[in-house]
Amino acid sequence: MIAVKPPDEYYDAVVIGAGPAGSTAAKRLGQAGLKVALLDQRLEIGNKIQCAEFVPRPISRYAPLRAGDIAQRVEGIKTFINGKPVHTLAAPGYTLNRNLWDKYQADEAKNAGVTVMSATRAVAVGDHAVTITKGTERGKIYATFILGCDGPHSLVSGRLGNGRQENCVALQYELLLHKPMTHVEIYFEPDYYGGYAWAFPKGNTVNAGIAIHASVKNQLHCLLHEFCRSLMQRQVVQSDRIVAKTGGFIPTGGLAGCLAQKNMLLAGDAAGCTHPVTGAGIMNAVRSGHLAAMAVIRQVKSKDEHLVSENYPRILHEEYSRQFAIARERLNSRNREWTNDPEKFLALIRRSWIAFPEYYTQ
Ligand SMILES: Cc1cc2nc3c(=O)[nH]c(=O)nc-3n(C[C@H](O)[C@H](O)[C@H](O)COP(=O)(O)OP(=O)(O)OC[C@H]3O[C@@H](n4cnc5c(N)ncnc54)[C@H](O)[C@@H]3O)c2cc1C
Repeated sequence: MIAVKPPDEYYDAVVIGAGPAGSTAAKRLGQAGLKVALLDQRLEIGNKIQCAEFVPRPISRYAPLRAGDIAQRVEGIKTFINGKPVHTLAAPGYTLNRNLWDKYQADEAKNAGVTVMSATRAVAVGDHAVTITKGTERGKIYATFILGCDGPHSLVSGRLGNGRQENCVALQYELLLHKPMTHVEIYFEPDYYGGYAWAFPKGNTVNAGIAIHASVKNQLHCLLHEFCRSLMQRQVVQSDRIVAKTGGFIPTGGLAGCLAQKNMLLAGDAAGCTHPVTGAGIMNAVRSGHLAAMAVIRQVKSKDEHLVSENYPRILHEEYSRQFAIARERLNSRNREWTNDPEKFLALIRRSWIAFPEYYTQ
């Protein structure tokens, strides 16, 4: 056993998951003087990142970025439909080295006094206890507050009674670029049901990936191979040699039904903070991690027991509900009306992709 409730293993807060949401929340809680544990099942935090790593530039307002965390500056988003470039949006951003950045965020939490535990998996969550495993060892840690920042298949979300989130499935290869790119590129094709392909440059390499509706996930490998071949034919990439491979699930269902109860709260992908149309979740993970920590800090200071269970969900809804409701409507009607007809497909994507004015004016 790791610990059977010795007094020094009782934390004010335990944060499960050291992604952008969890590390941000843990750092804020640590800075406020709370005794905090941040745990992650990964052997090393920042390892095996499941991400295409594009963030809008204002993210640096919410989370520190060192020069080395930025792989490349990006000027905007080019959208391709039916193989043709149809639109360029000025949207300054960065592609990150998320492996470095995630580790840095967890180190920042550690510097704020947080106990960071890697290779530590939460396997059960009770009212004030988290059962953990580390290698072959099993034990419990105890806390007044439990923050579920544990990604799209959140254990804590299940404990709050939420069902499985709707999601897209994604696969991505990192390939060597032929020549530098200034924009991230998004590709819509009738073959990519429910999603899109992307090419996000990282200096000499590019994250080339596809996310599609979970119902057609068996086509993912084939579609990605074809997409990479098309990038090769257009001389965007040098060859089909895969530098790195990743993938995962991208929530598309919007905010979880229950975001907090008593002493337990969700942030980031676990809370469904990912944008249902774009799949972008890093910035919202950082923001919701911050808001979750602030709710806990205020509750501790004021002794008002409703700040976590009532105020925090209200704040998240104020922040995201409207834009996510529009995104869900656009995504659902796009999926319903999906078509192979090139002209209808073009019009459909224009109505349902955030780069086009039609998205906002229905
Ligand atoms: C292929 C792909 C590409 C993407 N591209 C982009 C992009 O370009 N831009 C963007 O903004 N978003 C992108 N996203 C979404 C983005 O990655 C997520 O929204 C973001 O990582 C959410 O942060 P988080 O902290 O909530 O969760 P995560 O980053 O998923 O972190 C959760 C952490 O919890 C840990 N964990 C889970 N369960 C347990 C457990 N039981 N015990 C202990 N630890 C646990 C995990 O190991 C993980 O480290 C992409 C997603 C995918 C899958």
